[in-house]
Amino acid sequence: MAVTLADYEKVVGPEVMDEIRTLAGYVRHKSLQNINSTPVGGGVAEILTRMIPLLRELGVDATWDVIKGNEAFYAVTKAFHNALHGHPETITPKMLEVFRENTAMNLEEMKLEGDVLFIHDPQPAGLIDKKPTIGRQWIWRCHIDVSNPDPAVWEFLRPWVERYDAAVFSMPDFAREMPIPQFRIAPSIDPLSDKNRDLEPEVVRGVLERFGIDPERPVLTQISRFDRLKDPLGVIESYRMVRRHCDCQLVLAGGGADDDPEGAEVLREVEEAAAKDPDIHVLLLPPFSDLEINALVRGSTIVFQKSIREGFGLTVSEGLWKGKPVIGGAVGGIRLQIINGVTGFLIHSPEGAANRAVELLSNPELCRKLGENGQRYVRENFLITRHVKDYLLLMLALDHPGERVVRLAGI
Ligand code: UDP
Repeated sequence: MAVTLADYEKVVGPEVMDEIRTLAGYVRHKSLQNINSTPVGGGVAEILTRMIPLLRELGVDATWDVIKGNEAFYAVTKAFHNALHGHPETITPKMLEVFRENTAMNLEEMKLEGDVLFIHDPQPAGLIDKKPTIGRQWIWRCHIDVSNPDPAVWEFLRPWVERYDAAVFSMPDFAREMPIPQFRIAPSIDPLSDKNRDLEPEVVRGVLERFGIDPERPVLTQISRFDRLKDPLGVIESYRMVRRHCDCQLVLAGGGADDDPEGAEVLREVEEAAAKDPDIHVLLLPPFSDLEINALVRGSTIVFQKSIREGFGLTVSEGLWKGKPVIGGAVGGIRLQIINGVTGFLIHSPEGAANRAVELLSNPELCRKLGENGQRYVRENFLITRHVKDYLLLMLALDHPGERVVRLAGI
């Protein structure tokens, strides 16, 4: 059965929902067109899939379109992505040309119809070239940690980015010196989606068994696209250290994203590193494996997100929401979600991750406590209802440029 707004009242209470409905009343005269680069795979698609129906139910005409791009374009934007995260990449003039050409093609072909154009991440950022001819309100929603970018890529993108009416970043550290207003809006998870809703223990057990995982033995799990910045090889290294002290199994599960051409190569490296160990389960999941992912996380003892660079890392909140202790790299938005020693552990190396995992595996009470704290923390900060409210407030703020306090009639 389809989830409706009313269902969220049971999770967050009626006051939160009343506030959201009231705010929607102030902005629903404007349509909101979201544009990103992939319909499936990765955090942005995950959020939009859930956000659009909720906004529509609130009466906001929200839509979602995806830019077009060929393999060469996505190879370039993946390199941009890594370089913006501060990871070394060689950026050639030819690559900049590919980006410009693809932008021109999308400018030609895309229908830009929203009153508010919500452009996600660098891939479609150049669509702002249409602003002088069509006007509208333009928001650049950057999900990447651009606090320490490769200057070559940032300087290339900056002339586009600075023409937006506003930019949105997931955390204050990500913002940059820019002549446009900047907003901080953290991403979120949907507690009622198949990825996160409660599951019967038999369902969880059934999924583990289907993948050959022993439900009676401890399980460490990382759910991620096969991407070097998610450090799956580092997770295997940690697991091998843990195994010297405790019995456990490792699950590395993930699929690809249409805009991520490196996945297949990283998957090969991971499979090679895992070979011959029957307790390492490398699972290549097809798109829309939400129930399976939910069950894999619920069936885990500890969740890993050992990223070496990260935007937000939705998988962290997804683990915390299920009452799991999460061990995460101390990077990007993972630092927003893991309060060290309270909702999980922040680590800086495979050794650090292994030490924390051994500590947790030998202390079920600590696992329970961190999981309980984590679930509460996500309820208060990282659920989709908070996110919807922030987007509505942003739409409202755009109508009151320069005003420090917005006074609403009727409140
Ligand atoms: N995910 C998924 N299937 C996969 C791998 C990941 O559905 O095979 C989901 C994951 O559960 C999370 C999102 O994709 O909801 C990934 O978001 P995150 O912010 O963790 O990382 P990103 O991929 O955006 O870098």
